[in-house]
Amino acid sequence: MEDIIKLKHVTKIYKMGAEEICAVNDVSLRIHREEVCCLLGKSGSGKSTLLNLIAGLEKPTAGQIIFHKKHMERMTEDQLANFRQKYVGFVFQSYNLLPTLTALENVTLPLIFRQVPLKERQERAMEMLEAVGLADRANHLPREMSGGQQQRVSIARAFINTPEVVFADEPTGNLDTKTTYEMMDLITGLAKKNAQTLVIVTHDLELSEYADRIVVLHDGKIDHVEEKKATTESNTVQ
Ligand code: ADP
Ligand code: MG
Repeated sequence: MEDIIKLKHVTKIYKMGAEEICAVNDVSLRIHREEVCCLLGKSGSGKSTLLNLIAGLEKPTAGQIIFHKKHMERMTEDQLANFRQKYVGFVFQSYNLLPTLTALENVTLPLIFRQVPLKERQERAMEMLEAVGLADRANHLPREMSGGQQQRVSIARAFINTPEVVFADEPTGNLDTKTTYEMMDLITGLAKKNAQTLVIVTHDLELSEYADRIVVLHDGKIDHVEEKKATTESNTVQ
């Protein structure tokens, strides 16, 4: 499988006064096109920092991050913002919906940044809400929806541009078990259908069942990588 992102000796050090925290320590990793890659590790192992580096939300202290043959560590903030709009979608643990916008309006946001005309925006956002099973909540505000419903809206928003890579940081961290599996089925199902690459952060070993490959982190380093063979069969047969 072709690599979509390459990390070479990536390190991220946070300075806290006189103290230095090495959140990601000399990580080299390749993300394969169309895979579901899970970053698994305990709290504080550097999962979110690594995800944010790969997604262009943060810059490394050292090392190289190459996406589409471009060096992300050399990009300016504007170039990174542009890159994120073009190629990536995000799902966060806390949904990150805009509280004053309806479900439909939240889903249209990425299309506004891309200057898609209003009518097309609304049609496409409605289709996405249908795809996540929320057409009947289109005009609800986030506070008028359950956690699971809010996460469905944020999933619809993340996928509406069919970005090449979707990043999810503990997407089910605030949800009950049943909703967690519904959400994981939804995210991985959408990604497989559209041949998108998915990078998911979790501390939950059970959720890594959804992954084609599990990258286990410990103290900012890769502890080991587990490959799963014939994923679709092993997930459906058993
Ligand atoms: P995880 O997502 O696996 O829980 P994080 O990537 O959030 O881990 O954090 C890894 C380490 O880096 C932790 O020790 C954390 O306290 C530290 N860290 C994360 N973000 C920052 C920050 N913005 N400033 C200082 N330290 C940070
Ligand atoms: Mg985290």
